[in-house]
Amino acid sequence: MTVGIVGAGQLGRMLALAGYPLGLDFLCLDPAAEAPAGQVAPLLKGAFTDRALLRQLARRCEVVTFDWENVSVESLRAVRAAHGARIAPPVAALATGQDRVAEKRLFEKLGIPTTRWRAVDSRAQLSRAMRQVGLPGVLKTRRLGYDGKGQAVIARAEDAEHAFAQLGSVPLIYEERVPFDCEVSIIGARNPSGELAIYPLCGNVHARGILRLTRAPYGPAAWQARASRHLTRMLEHFSYAGILTIEFFVRGGRLIANEIAPRVHNSGHWSIEGAVTSQFENHLRAILDLPLGSTRPTGHSAMINLIGSIPPVRKLLGVPGLHLHDYGKEPRPGRKVGHLTLVEASVARRDARALVLLEDLAAGVSFP
Ligand code: AMP
Repeated sequence: MTVGIVGAGQLGRMLALAGYPLGLDFLCLDPAAEAPAGQVAPLLKGAFTDRALLRQLARRCEVVTFDWENVSVESLRAVRAAHGARIAPPVAALATGQDRVAEKRLFEKLGIPTTRWRAVDSRAQLSRAMRQVGLPGVLKTRRLGYDGKGQAVIARAEDAEHAFAQLGSVPLIYEERVPFDCEVSIIGARNPSGELAIYPLCGNVHARGILRLTRAPYGPAAWQARASRHLTRMLEHFSYAGILTIEFFVRGGRLIANEIAPRVHNSGHWSIEGAVTSQFENHLRAILDLPLGSTRPTGHSAMINLIGSIPPVRKLLGVPGLHLHDYGKEPRPGRKVGHLTLVEASVARRDARALVLLEDLAAGVSFP
């Protein structure tokens, strides 16, 4: 059985590595010949919108999934219509995740608390939105934002001019800036038979918009219960197949939804070593309508992203119990090139070891 992956980044690579023990084959589509998943699976080299290559992918694969959330919805719909290709997760979830306004509307429709927001298409609308939502706020592009790109904080009214000049050539959204206590994410899978598998809540620390550290399990049982309810509602809404993630800000014990990701997620990488079944394996099981695996944690995990370059491997592997994942990418400032995972028997030991590692990496990240 062959799984097609549109996008051959590190998520596609980890999907393939999780699928080989299950006897699955993979075929990726990506413009970059040296893309991480292309190093471990056959690759069709070309644009994500290349209809001929998408057709080939649909013809040769049992199911087509994606590892990047900005793949073209129109192109996927076209191959589905023309060739009856099975695409999972649902294209409707992908379309919603690509548009921050559609995302906010869906949170509101499903009763999932989110930030106060207004769509902004002009400088005058930005002024109105700032009056209605208040200050401070964040101005974001509706589409194509990731890792904190395409957004600007508006702390005072005077910041609006510069923020709009910077971003205003495309449709925008203005939302309140949440002075959050922490950020969390919930990750879960649903298969077409309706089975659900939800992971322990993840606590996430970002620096300069990029995820640096995830700890899981994280937070009190009440947060887990509420986040799981929100995620279940979203999974059912889409009759979902695959892994879906919701990111939240936590403020005074309230969970405030920030965004969804209709795919395996960076904050779930710990599950490779830290859960009975990884998010990657469960994504594959879900899109193929196979029974889902247990999401039970095997300990207390910390996952640290390696940004820019991989430190000396000999040094990393000398740290007892440390797992290294090198994505096979060229070093570049600000680029996610790999990650580290530790699984410990207690929260205290996990946190102490994670802090030491972050200090050694000079990541400039601290946490309470
Ligand atoms: P996003 O691309 O929306 O996930 O934003 C990336 C990161 O920027 C988030 O994980 C937060 O750390 C920060 N951020 C984004 N929006 C807000 C907001 N409305 N209030 C506070 N922090 C935010």
